[in-house]
Amino acid sequence: MTKQTLTRRQLLRHGSVFAAMPALYGCDSAVTGLCSDPDLMSRGEEHMRKTLRYTERSDNAGQTCNSCQFFSAGADRLCGDCQILNGWVSEQGYCTSWALRA
Ligand code: SF4
Repeated sequence: MTKQTLTRRQLLRHGSVFAAMPALYGCDSAVTGLCSDPDLMSRGEEHMRKTLRYTERSDNAGQTCNSCQFFSAGADRLCGDCQILNGWVSEQGYCTSWALRA
């Protein structure tokens, strides 16, 4: 039998981890911060987020990741996968590639 160890990235990608986070951190900004933990990103991923000015909290209520065509919600509904950034983002996030989901 092979011993299998989950990496932090795998744990973060598993939606059930986020369900417990509000209780641990006491505010959801800490939770949404985990959607895109810089410690887990490659330089390319970080560069892409900076180039597209990704933010965990959109300044425009009408333009958030959860209404973007490139967003797929995760099980926890706090974070989801972004096709453009190729990784997890906050459902309340935003970047300059935002496009309204049809
Ligand atoms: S393309 Fe930008 S706005 Fe759309 S889901 Fe990805 S990060 Fe959010």
